[in-house]
This record gives sequence, C-alpha cells and structure tokens, in this order.
Amino acid sequence: MMKWLKSKRKKNRDSNVGVSTDPVIITRSEHGVSRKNIDEPALKVLYRLHKAGYQACLVGGAVRDLMLDRHPKDFDVATDATPEQVSKLFRNCRLIGRRFRLAHIHFGRHIIEVATFRAAHGELHEEHHDESGRILRDNVYGEIHDDVWRRDFTANALYYNIADFSIIDYVGGAEDIANKRLRLIGDQETRYREDPVRMLRAIRFASKLGFTIDDSCKQAMLELGPLLGEVPSARLFEEVLKLFHSGHAEESFFTLQEYDLFKYLFPDVVKQLQDKTTAEFIRLAMQSTDDRIKLDKPVTPAFLFAALLWVPVKELTEANIEAGMPYAIALQKAATKMISQQVRHVSIPKRFTTTMRDIWALQSRFRNHSGRRAYSVLHHPKFRAAYDFLCLRANAGETNVDDCRWWTELQEKSPEQQQKIISAQKGGPRTRSNKPGGSKKPKGGNKADTDSGGNR
Ligand code: ATP
Ligand code: MG
Repeated sequence: MMKWLKSKRKKNRDSNVGVSTDPVIITRSEHGVSRKNIDEPALKVLYRLHKAGYQACLVGGAVRDLMLDRHPKDFDVATDATPEQVSKLFRNCRLIGRRFRLAHIHFGRHIIEVATFRAAHGELHEEHHDESGRILRDNVYGEIHDDVWRRDFTANALYYNIADFSIIDYVGGAEDIANKRLRLIGDQETRYREDPVRMLRAIRFASKLGFTIDDSCKQAMLELGPLLGEVPSARLFEEVLKLFHSGHAEESFFTLQEYDLFKYLFPDVVKQLQDKTTAEFIRLAMQSTDDRIKLDKPVTPAFLFAALLWVPVKELTEANIEAGMPYAIALQKAATKMISQQVRHVSIPKRFTTTMRDIWALQSRFRNHSGRRAYSVLHHPKFRAAYDFLCLRANAGETNVDDCRWWTELQEKSPEQQQKIISAQKGGPRTRSNKPGGSKKPKGGNKADTDSGGNR
C-alpha cells in the first residue's frame, strides 16, 4: 500500500502539515479495513445515519487502529447530522456536553459517540482563544474538511466512509500510519497552545503504538511543557490514567521524562528520580501495572499514585519525626501535605487518596509479626495492595526483603496455622527508628513477584 500511497498523495514537505482541499480517497480494495472488525453497534449507527441521508464516517483512533490491525478501544462516528437530528434517529440516544453537544448512543454497556462535523481553526482567532492560545469556544458546525482541523495527529484524522467503504485522507494520515509516524496537523506551537494535553497524547500514542514523534512536533513539546500547568487538574488526572492504565505505563513513564514533561505532572517526584532506587521502585510499579492489565487483573490509580509519592512522603515523615512528632502523626501530616501539593497539578479523587494513605500507613505495620497487631494487618481491607507495595519496595531495594518474605509465607498457610504463627511470635513491633523501612538490598526475588502491583 505504501508505494501506491506515495504516488497518490501530493508530497507535503513543509514541517507544517496542511489540510488539503482535495483529499485522497483510498477505496475499499486499496485498504485493509474490514467491516468484520468494526463492532456491531458502530456499524448500526453508521448505516442508520447513512440510510437517513446523512454523511456518516468512523473517525479518529478507531480508523487508525483498524489500519494497524488492532482492535479499537472505542468507536467514534462523525456526521453532518446535527445532534438533534441524530437524536431523532435513535431511541437510545442522549445528548451531552455544553460547550459542544455530542450524541451518545447507548447499546448496553457500550456507547457510540457521534459528533457533528465542526469547524475549528488552525489559526489563532482572538475571540476563540485565551491569552496563551487555549481554545475557549469550539462550537461551530462545519463540513468534513473543517472537521479535520480539530483532530490532533494525521494518524487520528482519517474518515472511514460507510457510503462506499473508502477512507478519506486530507492530511497524509495513511502514509504516516504506514510509517508509524506522529505528525501534528497545522503549526505545532499553535496546536499545542490550543490544547496542551495534545503533548500528553503524543506521548501516549508514541508509547502505545510504537510510533515516532516527528521532529516537526518535538521541539514545541520541549518548550511548551509549562502550559500543562494551565490545564485543569481533573483533566490531567484523566490523561494520566490513560497514560498509565492502558498497558503501557512503563514506556509512557520513560517517554514523559525524555520529553521533560513528567516534572509538570509530578513536580515533587521528579527530583527523587535522580536516586536510582526510587526510580527503580517507580519503574517496577509501572511494570507491574502493565503486567496486571495484560492479565486482565484489576488496577487502581491509588496504587500508582501511592508509589509515585511514596519517597517524598517518607522523607517528609522522617523530617517530621526529627521535629519531634510521633511516627503515626508524622506520616499523616506528610501524607496530607504531599497529597495537597500534588492535587494542584494532577487531581486525585478522594476515594483514591484514602487508599493511598492506607497503603502508606500499613508499610510500617508490616514490621509487626505477632499478636493482635499482626492479625489486624492481615485482615485490613487494603492488606493485599499494601503487601504488594511492600514487596515492590523490597524488590527495588528500597526496604528490607525480610518482611515481604514473612508475609508471603504467612499467606500460604491455612487460617489455623496463621493464627498459631502469629501468636507464637515473640516481641512486639520493632523500634521506631527503623520505620518506615531501611534500605537493605534483597538477596533474591520472592514469591510475591509474579503478583505484585496488587492494584486492588
Ligand atoms: P484511543 O485509542 O486512546 O481511544 P483516540 O485517538 O481514539 O485514542 P480519543 O481520545 O478517543 O483518542 O479521541 C478520538 C479522536 O478525537 C482522536 O483520534 C482525535 O482525532 C480527536 N481528538 C481527541 N482529543 C483531541 C485533542 N485533545 N485534540 C485534537 N483532537 C482530539
Ligand atoms: Mg478513541
């Protein structure tokens, strides 16, 4: 297909990708996208719109993924029907959104999002942007060639037309997909200013799809990172989850650092990464999250955020102890401070910060191997996540491996044996000076390795 595309497409050698007025139409026989790989609900929506006389295209990541032979995460549809017209065609339709109305068509748990073609601007128009260039208003309906401008990368700007099963390509997206290349549509600085989250999207697609970020969109990423500070923290939370909970957390973590963007998301963590043990601990947390996603095991943002903030929390706890606070209060105060500093950048919903605190608080309690205290640790609702966290720390050399081994072995015993072991242990918890954990390297792996990251 590559050779053919090159000859079919007018060459665009500028660093800025323009939107041609004369799209390349890749006909059914010239591309590999098959209807059998499109989910039934998406096909239903496309056909019904088409039968009612509207244009209807599959668009965005779905077309990209189908061309890459991957199963799309979701199917988005673009049409020239207005949301109200869409709504009249589908009983199971809900209109959402204030800034821009979208139609959500519900099929059980699945939702097909239908957006009306809308015009956006490659140029900065004062009335549509704030002082730094961020889009404020984005609600003008348009035609398909206008709609291309509101896409980010060429690979995300292909339209699969249900009328004749062709792919409509205004920007050379098919060629870029074949070359595994990410190129922004339009002028990179303008597009990142309009929506700085596009920088994070670039990282995500590069990490997830193995695409190369084209030089034409690299430079601005290195310069415009501070604009991420203007993005609402709740939106950044969503974006961070997409980066770290899509099975490519480890790769995304490194790519974020390569583009110097990590520091705008986690400013209190970035200087800790200079320390090899801390960096390894976070890498292991990312890796185990990826492993769990591959195995279809549950994951929670609390685990990753707890891992990211652990060392800053631990250091602050130690400083608080030096200032005379008892351990439990020192930890609580440190946790409150670090969380409140972090949520200014990337918000973390309360239900997750509660679990993060539990994971952190349990770390020192794992030193208790006897009596009622050990028993209550074992039966704590967050025991499993905190135990996995402990073993990751041990594997990274961030704490002694002994506690992880002890609790691993304990879990292999029957409840009766557990009771015996716990009541047979002599002595109470270890001295406070040891808390929340030394840094003796583990001598080897442990049984928990295969299941660490317990993001429950
Ligand atoms: P994924 O596989 O993660 O779903 P996607 O490319 O489908 O990736 P979505 O967030 O589902 O991403 O968005 C669908 C499409 O909408 C994108 O492919 C892109 O064309 C467009 N889009 C989404 N967010 C933006 C953005 N911030 N700027 C420009 N275009 C965007
Ligand atoms: Mg998508």
